[in-house]
Amino acid sequence: MGVIEMINPATGERLGELEETSPEAIERAMVHARKAFRRWGNLPLAERLDHINRLRRYIVDHADELAETVVRDTGKVHLEALMTEILLTVDFIKYYEKKAASILKPKKVSTPITLIGRRSWVEYRPMGVVAVISPWNYPFQLAMIPAISALVAGNAVLIKPSEVSPLTGLLIEKVFRKVGFPEDVVQVIHGGKEVGERLIQARPDKIFFTGSVATGKKVMAAAAEHLIPVDLELGGKDPMIVFADADLRRAANAAVWGAFTNAGQTCMAVERLYVESSVYETFVRMVKERTEALRLTEEGADVGSMTFPRQLDIVEAHLADAKEKGAKILCGGRRTGSDGLHFEPTVLTDVDHSMRIMREETFGPVLPIMPFDTEEEAIRLANDTPYGLNSSIWTKNRKKARRVAGRIEAGNVCINDVMINMANPGLPYGGVKWSGIGRYHGPEGLLSFCHRVSVISHPGRKKREINWYPYSERQTDAIRYLIRLLYGKGWNLSLKELLNLAVQFLRRK
Ligand code: NAD
Repeated sequence: MGVIEMINPATGERLGELEETSPEAIERAMVHARKAFRRWGNLPLAERLDHINRLRRYIVDHADELAETVVRDTGKVHLEALMTEILLTVDFIKYYEKKAASILKPKKVSTPITLIGRRSWVEYRPMGVVAVISPWNYPFQLAMIPAISALVAGNAVLIKPSEVSPLTGLLIEKVFRKVGFPEDVVQVIHGGKEVGERLIQARPDKIFFTGSVATGKKVMAAAAEHLIPVDLELGGKDPMIVFADADLRRAANAAVWGAFTNAGQTCMAVERLYVESSVYETFVRMVKERTEALRLTEEGADVGSMTFPRQLDIVEAHLADAKEKGAKILCGGRRTGSDGLHFEPTVLTDVDHSMRIMREETFGPVLPIMPFDTEEEAIRLANDTPYGLNSSIWTKNRKKARRVAGRIEAGNVCINDVMINMANPGLPYGGVKWSGIGRYHGPEGLLSFCHRVSVISHPGRKKREINWYPYSERQTDAIRYLIRLLYGKGWNLSLKELLNLAVQFLRRK
C-alpha cells in the first residue's frame, strides 16, 4: 500500500497526500458492495432515480466549486472543466432520468408460429458489482458517467479513479457522501496499477475500463481469468479530413480547438489533419495564425497545462522523432513557463506515416498536418492506423461527406464538426479496432450494465409438446411437413400430410 502525492500540475504546488486503499480494504469494499447491491438492485427504478436526481442537483449547485477542484487536479482551464466535466455529466444524468424507464422496461419479442401459444420478452437485470476504472484526462466525467449508468441499471459500483488525478477521486467520494447515497452502493478505491489489479482480483461482476490500449489489454487478460465481462474505452489517433470545398474558416477553428482543447489530452482529439492539396497552403496558414493567437498560462487562458509528466515526455519523444525524419515545426514545440507542465500548442508539417507522431497516440497539444490529392487517398490515410475512435470529415458536399464517413474505420464520425458526438447522451459511444470494445452512452449505456434475460412463457395447460418424448414416426413426419410448410415452397402438402400435422399438434393437449 503506497501513498499518492497530490500535485497541481499547472503550478507544481503540493496539495497533500493520499493513502492507497489496502488489499484488505478492497476485499471488504467488495463484500459491502455485494450486500448493498441486494438492496439497491431491488429498489424500484423510480427510487433509484430519486437519488440520481439529488446527485444532479448537488452537482449543479456546486458546479464551479467542483470544476475548480478538477482544475487544481489536472491543470485544465476552468471553462473546459465546467463544460466537459460538469455540463456533460448533468446532461447525461438528465437523459437517463427521462429515458431509463423506457430503456429498462421488458421488451416484447415476436414469437414464431412454431412456438404457437407462447409469449416472449427480454428483461434487463442488474449484474451486481461494477468496477469503474478511470483515467486522468477527464477524471470526473469519465468516472461519473459510467458509474451513474451502472447505478441507474441497479448495480453497486466500486470506482477506481486514476492515481494521476487523486483529488478528483476524493471529490467523487465526497459528492456521493454529501448527496446521502445509500451506504456502500458507491465506494471509491484509491490507488494506482496494483490497486486496479487487486480490484479485478476481487471479482467484480463487470468491469468498465477507460484508459490506454496497453492497460486495456492487461485488464482484459486479468478479467478473462474469472470470465468477467469488460467494456474497454481506449485510445485514439483521430483523423480530420478537410476537402477543398469545406468552409475553411469553420474547419480551421475546429482543427485548432479539436487539437488543443484540454491541452490535447483527449482520447478523441484531432491527432492527424489531412487537407486537400489545392487548399493546403491556405489552410495551414489559417491553422498557424489561430494557434499562435491562443493564450497560455495567464488567467482566462485558452490552453491549460498538461496533467501527467510522463505524457509530456511522450509528446517530446514524438516531436523529436518527427523532426529527425524531416518534419517542420511551424509554431510551438517547447515547454513553457517555469512551473508546471505547460507545453506550447504545436503545429507540424512535412509529416508522413513513418513517423510516430502519425501512428501512435501523442495525447498532447500537437497537430501534424499532411496534404492529400484524392478522396481515395484521404480515406486510405485516415484508416492507416490501428486505432478507430473518432474522426471528422469537412466538405459542403453532403453526399461526399456521407460517402467518406461510411468508409472511415471508427466508432464515431463527425461531419463538419469535431469531437461533439460524445456530447449527445443519446448516441452510443465507443471505438473499433484498438480503440475499444463495447459502447456506453445512449440506451446501450444502460443495457451494457444489465444481463439481458430472455423469457418465454406458456399458459401451461397442455400435457406435452410436439417435440417432447415419446418420439414416433408420425411425429418425425409432422416435423418434416412443418419444415416444408413454413420454409419450403408453401402450400404443397397433401391433405393427409396436413392432417397428420394437425393431429400431432392436437395430441399435445
Ligand atoms: P492508463 O491506462 O494508464 O490508466 C487508466 C486507469 O487504469 C488508471 O486508473 C490506472 O490506475 C488503472 N490501471 C493501470 N494499470 C492497471 C492494471 N494493470 N489493472 C487495473 N487497472 C490499472 O490510462 P491513462 O493514462 O490514465 O489515460 C489516458 C488514456 O486513456 C489514453 O490512451 C486515452 O486515449 C484513453 N482514454 C480513452 C477514452 C475513451 O473514451 N475511449 C477516454 C479518455 C481517455
